[in-house]
Amino acid sequence: MNILVLNCGSSSVKYQFINPEERKILTRGVVERVGMSDAVLRNKRHDGDEIAISGEILDHAIAIDYILAVLLSKNHGVIKDKAEIDAIGHRVVHGGETFTQSVLITDEVIKGIRDNIELAPLHNPHNLRGITACLNHLPDTPQVAVFDTAFHQQMPTHAYLYGLPYSLYRRYKIRKYGFHGTSHRYVSSRVAKLMDKSLESLKLITCHLGNGCSMAAIDGGISIDTTMGFTPLEGLLMGTRSGDMDPSVILYIMAKEELSSSEANALLNKHSGLMGISGVSSDMRDVLQEARDGEKQAGFAFEVFCYRIKKYIGSYIAALGGIDAIIFTGGIGENSPEVRAQSLHGLSCIGITISDEFNTSSEKEKIISAADSSVSVYVIPTNEELMIALDTMIIVGKEATQKVI
Ligand code: ADP
Repeated sequence: MNILVLNCGSSSVKYQFINPEERKILTRGVVERVGMSDAVLRNKRHDGDEIAISGEILDHAIAIDYILAVLLSKNHGVIKDKAEIDAIGHRVVHGGETFTQSVLITDEVIKGIRDNIELAPLHNPHNLRGITACLNHLPDTPQVAVFDTAFHQQMPTHAYLYGLPYSLYRRYKIRKYGFHGTSHRYVSSRVAKLMDKSLESLKLITCHLGNGCSMAAIDGGISIDTTMGFTPLEGLLMGTRSGDMDPSVILYIMAKEELSSSEANALLNKHSGLMGISGVSSDMRDVLQEARDGEKQAGFAFEVFCYRIKKYIGSYIAALGGIDAIIFTGGIGENSPEVRAQSLHGLSCIGITISDEFNTSSEKEKIISAADSSVSVYVIPTNEELMIALDTMIIVGKEATQKVI
């Protein structure tokens, strides 16, 4: 079965054409600068063939036209007929309280995604544009929506309610939603397979550390708590986002610096985190290099980043009432032995020790806990696109996710 996985952002459309049964990416690419006259599509086929096409790609419908043209192209494509696209899986950012799992897209689902635009005004409208464009281009091809928030929808009330007047939850649905659900779900299923245990029997903490960072406490395959909240701003320190802090701080700064709400929003989301503390970069590689060179603020950024992960590990072990495995994923989680070691430093008191040799080995998917550690620690490269393709395949009625992961 061949699934087209689409991730439609404000000015880009990322895509992968996947055979999920074989875990094979047939071709993948991105359309950048959608909405501009100098947009470009870059495609890389499984055999290494690469192509870049520039053009006036003024909206998502035209971007999808270009993607289909590349898939069907005689020299650079992978299919001869549109009918070889068995289904389309869309990443949709916010499913609110409406969607607790991935769903086949119907008129009602489209309305549900539209109803949640208020919660994700920068994302859901673009996801919807992609869906509408596909309905126009491929009206007979089933489409599935896979939500970033859905995996966390079974969180208990005590984990998702804020200490605000309950009427605000009722009126505006202000609560913790959590994001990166597709990644947390993928790595948790994958670790069960690696441990040769059923997911239902495991207590897990997953750490997705990329530009955006979040952790989840997963009990028997269900996310019972996560660090991101109403928006992706809450929780861990991130590339440019502050993560947790006393909410009064922002009111104080707004008054002192005479900031508007949009300036305050930019301060918290774009100028804080690793970038804000280090003063040099939002990229962990730069922060690590500067810290090694003795740059004090970069050292602080690294320490705050890792300390917060450690704090959440402790609190999630309490929330779970035990722990079988911790999983690191995302660009930082997969690639930085320093961050993994520092985040777990001093946790031998709760049975977590890692092996320096395993932690620094060049393998991508690996166990890094020491032989005598009672908690297993893994590094697992995330694969959100495969998860979307698998969900899509299951929903259009073919296979079972567990079997393929
Ligand atoms: P996104 O959240 O945008 O998908 P990624 O998951 O690709 O981002 O993660 C990007 C982050 O991963 C950046 O902070 C980058 O510095 C970090 N990263 C990538 N490679 C390494 C590495 N070898 N060591 C440390 N950090 C790394």
